[in-house]
Amino acid sequence: MEATEKDILRGGQFLVKETNCEDVFTPEDFSEEQTMMKESVMEFNDREIIPHKTRFEAKDYALTEDVMRKAGDMGFLSVSVPEAYGGMGMGFVSTVLTCDYISSGTGSFSTAFGAHTGIGTLPITLYGTEEQKQKYVPKLATGEWFGSYCLTEPGAGSDANSGKTTAELSADGKSYKINGQKMWISNAGFCSLMIVFARIEDDKNITGFIVEYDKNKPNGIVLGEEEHKLGIRASSTRQVFYNDTVVPVENMLAGRGEGFKIAMNALNVGRIKLAAACLDSQRRILSTAVNYANERKQFKTRISDFGAIKTKLAEMAASAYAGESATYRAAKNIEDRIALREAAGNSHQEAELKGVEEYAIECSILKVAVSEDVQNAADEGIQIFGGMGFSEETPMESAWRDARIARIYEGTNEINRMLTVGMLVKKAMKGHVDLLGPAQKVQEELMGIPSFDTPDYSELFSEEKEMIKKLKKTFLMVAGGAVQKYGPKLEDHQQLLIAAADILIEIYMAESAILRTEKNVKRTSEKEQSAQIAMAKLYLYHAVDIVEEKGKESIISFAEGDEQRMLLMGLKRFTKYVNYPDIVDLRIEIAEKVKAENKYCF
Ligand SMILES: Cc1cc2nc3c(=O)[nH]c(=O)nc-3n(C[C@H](O)[C@H](O)[C@H](O)COP(=O)(O)OP(=O)(O)OC[C@H]3O[C@@H](n4cnc5c(N)ncnc54)[C@H](O)[C@@H]3O)c2cc1C
Repeated sequence: MEATEKDILRGGQFLVKETNCEDVFTPEDFSEEQTMMKESVMEFNDREIIPHKTRFEAKDYALTEDVMRKAGDMGFLSVSVPEAYGGMGMGFVSTVLTCDYISSGTGSFSTAFGAHTGIGTLPITLYGTEEQKQKYVPKLATGEWFGSYCLTEPGAGSDANSGKTTAELSADGKSYKINGQKMWISNAGFCSLMIVFARIEDDKNITGFIVEYDKNKPNGIVLGEEEHKLGIRASSTRQVFYNDTVVPVENMLAGRGEGFKIAMNALNVGRIKLAAACLDSQRRILSTAVNYANERKQFKTRISDFGAIKTKLAEMAASAYAGESATYRAAKNIEDRIALREAAGNSHQEAELKGVEEYAIECSILKVAVSEDVQNAADEGIQIFGGMGFSEETPMESAWRDARIARIYEGTNEINRMLTVGMLVKKAMKGHVDLLGPAQKVQEELMGIPSFDTPDYSELFSEEKEMIKKLKKTFLMVAGGAVQKYGPKLEDHQQLLIAAADILIEIYMAESAILRTEKNVKRTSEKEQSAQIAMAKLYLYHAVDIVEEKGKESIISFAEGDEQRMLLMGLKRFTKYVNYPDIVDLRIEIAEKVKAENKYCF
């Protein structure tokens, strides 16, 4: 059934509106076409990437380029490219699932793939003129050319708009001359096209350019040596120097001074794709770990039979499950919004741009949560392997090193945490999300007398859903209190912003896991979904703890006296279970399922 404006929540509205489980998309909803795509990508990963892990770890950059070309032959580089430019023109969910299932073999390929299909191609499909798209996109879609994205400079990282690279218009007005230095450029070693950001005169904002690169006719472009990195070792990462590099005026992207906007919007898409690219790594880490734990014996016992190991397996499974639930929920929201905008007469380009921008909050939430979950999974994976986990001969070591970068690029997790709350406040000010009304209601509730009735929580997830509502109230109470106290100066209180972001992140992730499970229970049974129910409950239990901790530190920092006491009482009320889940039992149930299947099986 077609989604309508009414059905689809706007970005950030999940916080103030209740979502029905029927309205979320889950991995179990993949269409036949999506399932076929997933299988084809998995088969490619199994054939072309995983068996060559050692070569990737030995910095075989040529292999990365070769596999990228093969991915181009299979059409995987063109999933999201419109058919008019030689692509498959598939929907956003298919784009996300391709990033997901192609990424687990090695972070090296996953980075090359993400940099090319995301930030290396998207600025042209989203902002290019018809001529630019006709000229460049078909080459990028097939893998004839590879793209890179040159934003970061030695002095301009998180503060991306502060770059010093310049673009100077020639006397005849036909070209720009680019001078400057970029660093940490993924795919630099084998790309033929660079999206370069530079400043014209003393403009406030940078401007984007499409710059062709041919190593036989370098046009003033000099590449630095390959960087020696902790992980993603066969992903090409170099500095790029521009010395009077001539770029025709028609290669400017969008308008003068539009570069920062382009950079940020390309990153919004990049963030959800990066989250997806961490999902299959989590699945694979867990599957490898449980395989080992089922084999390895100590004290005449399989280590998977020890409670200590079961805890790890269960926690790893619950995080991966929540990550999948939230990523595909947001991906479908984006796909639906793009379709709505197209139906309303927007061009595909405009619809895609606005569709993704709408869910920028969710994209940042996912980037932070899933990049941290994959790191934890890899860390526990090493622990399950014991000494062998520390050896290069087993896969956990490289998985751990590769996972580390995801917390740094596409905007560091600190920047993304602050963005989530900043964007939400902006949306509220624009009237796109009503935070004020619900925040006032929470204030009134805090002043009122709490109900002492014992609620009936016999129905599945009734207490958990009530808990999610209470966590949302906590966010409104904490963030609302902080806004009242500091107003526009809130952005100077980063510790508060980060605590509020953590609350927001936990709400979205936990709610997504619960809604997915509830939907699947309705179409199967509680019995069939019992491990999934356990994972959703386990995830929520931890979420409540985090919300309580972050809420407490925030309240203590911005409120005093009676106000502090009232808010802390509210926090206690909003984070209290009536029936605490027995998380020891939940973990056993999840771990036994994973052990029996000998893999991540959800
Ligand atoms: C392997 C790799 C590949 C990369 N690929 C690309 C690429 O293809 N193209 C590209 O353009 N860039 C790329 N990057 C660059 C990457 O995006 C940046 O490293 C990242 O944005 C952080 O910038 P920085 O390294 O300068 O760190 P900084 O910005 O100096 O940050 C250092 C620390 O300070 C914190 N910090 C910074 N500002 C603030 C603030 N306002 N408030 C609070 N904390 C703050 C950060 O969160 C971080 O913890 C890549 C980097 C790596 C390592």
